[in-house]
Amino acid sequence: MTDFKSILEDINQQISNTEDKGNVADYIPELRNVNKNAFGIYLNVLNNKNFGIGDYQTKFSAQSITKALTLALAISKNPEDVWKRVDVEPSGNPFNFLSLLEVENGIPRNPFINSGAIVIADILVSELEHPKEDFLAFVRQLSNDNSIDYDIKVANSEKETGFKNYAIANLLKSFGNLKNDVDTVLDFYFMQCSLAMTCEQLTNAFYLFANHGKCLQNKLHITPSQTKRINAIMLTCGFYDEAGEFAFEVGLPGKSGVGGGIVAVLPNQFVISVWSPGLNKKGNSKLGMEALEIFTSKTELSIF
Ligand code: GLN
Repeated sequence: MTDFKSILEDINQQISNTEDKGNVADYIPELRNVNKNAFGIYLNVLNNKNFGIGDYQTKFSAQSITKALTLALAISKNPEDVWKRVDVEPSGNPFNFLSLLEVENGIPRNPFINSGAIVIADILVSELEHPKEDFLAFVRQLSNDNSIDYDIKVANSEKETGFKNYAIANLLKSFGNLKNDVDTVLDFYFMQCSLAMTCEQLTNAFYLFANHGKCLQNKLHITPSQTKRINAIMLTCGFYDEAGEFAFEVGLPGKSGVGGGIVAVLPNQFVISVWSPGLNKKGNSKLGMEALEIFTSKTELSIF
């Protein structure tokens, strides 16, 4: 039997001794205030046990990790619209890259770069009666935790400085791939990114991706086939222009965010979240990636 607990303890030990912790994202001013030494992991082994280590109960900014959750909700509401308006190819470019969108006539490469996530946000604004409240209720239900909430300070901080996202949304609008007002869609997008969650809550929220679309409470939210598709996109596009490296080093579908979190899944087997706020040059959590690499090496568990 794999001794998950001692593997996590080893990782914690190794990571806390690492000098170079990367750099905290500072282009959203409010994210500068995070403690760079924080580190947490939370693992849910399906039909077995949960294991937490370090700061796994501290809330941090989920940011782009929420793009997997908005995608799941949009697919559950209107899958035809999603696949018509967003492609499923890795971009090989940073998450806020603009040029491809122009060349490719306003169809974003995939739902996890900002342009794609903004189209998904637009679909949710059209489909949901109360977009912000309904999305929050969805995440709370997935995690079975009503204490999850938006961080308005982070949302406002991004709103004041999110010039590239305004440029992206305007470009989408010019190509007819944004149905609602730029401001309305970005208001929702900045709120979704501001969700403050712990490693434990994120692991619980992503449980459905390892469990054929059924959440922790056994409710079916997306079909098994839709779940496989989201996992495929997480593998090929979940880590900006570092998805290849992540598949090579870690070997799991997953999603990262500039708040320093990463959630990864092995279908039928486990969901794991890590948090270390310092990022590498590509914008992924530096130590989070290293921790997951050690985890899949020691456990010999990956999709490959
Ligand atoms: N809200 C951030 C942005 O749109 C999310 C970026 C991220 O986590 N990669 O720039």
